[in-house]
Amino acid sequence: DVSHKTILYLEDVSVSFDGFKALNNLSLYIDNGELRCLIGPNGAGKTTLMDVITGKTKPDSGSVFFGQTIDLLEMDEPAIAQAGICRKFQKPSVFENLSVFENLELAMKADKGAWPALFARLNGEHRDRIEEVLTTIGLTEHSAQQAGILSHGQKQWLEIGMLLMQEPKVMLVDEPVAGMTHQEIDRTAELLLSLQGKHSIVVVEHDMEFVRSIARKVTVLHEGSVLTEGTMDEVQNDPRVIQVYLGD
Ligand code: ADP
Repeated sequence: DVSHKTILYLEDVSVSFDGFKALNNLSLYIDNGELRCLIGPNGAGKTTLMDVITGKTKPDSGSVFFGQTIDLLEMDEPAIAQAGICRKFQKPSVFENLSVFENLELAMKADKGAWPALFARLNGEHRDRIEEVLTTIGLTEHSAQQAGILSHGQKQWLEIGMLLMQEPKVMLVDEPVAGMTHQEIDRTAELLLSLQGKHSIVVVEHDMEFVRSIARKVTVLHEGSVLTEGTMDEVQNDPRVIQVYLGD
């Protein structure tokens, strides 16, 4: 529920596409520093919900606040990103011809709006920040490697690193472990767990074992609304959740 700790506040949000309600009076409250998983069958509204938070889709009705006072419905996508809400899509998107280090450098410059200074020398502080993120994502030894030859998992971690360069308050992460090996999935769980607290993270994921390994609280969406919330054990044993997954 809502408290002084709430960093993302969505209330009674509805989105229609040609009369079809993709979100139907959805309410969701994310706490500062929380790692929340969002699950639900295809068509439940998960993508539309992420689109509403990032400003890509504006709802027909409802409220969307960041912190206690920032009305996200009055801001466009770039302003919302600038305010510290960033999103990672399912497919990794890195600059394949640049090194791992250069990818992180670019992510920082993109954030600072410093494109004209692209070829300027990095100052020590920036270099330290990149080293720190390399350590966090476990790619220090791959710093000079061309991003294009990284494994699928490493590319995903690099892209998470690129988000981190922007020092986001909220990270929206779409199906991070799709296509990963078991080892990569475990490493991704460790990474996301290490980021909670400092960042608020919302993960959309279909891999239930992975969800169980990272989330203290899981939100189940169905037909554009929150069906239920709770621990993985609670939601998995909820007959309504079983029903929507097995189909009626
Ligand atoms: P999920 O991500 O949970 O699979 P979505 O948010 O993508 O669900 O979609 C919810 C519903 O809204 C689906 O039935 C989908 O077909 C519909 N929908 C999503 N985006 C659009 C759109 N741009 N135009 C029309 N219908 C859409």
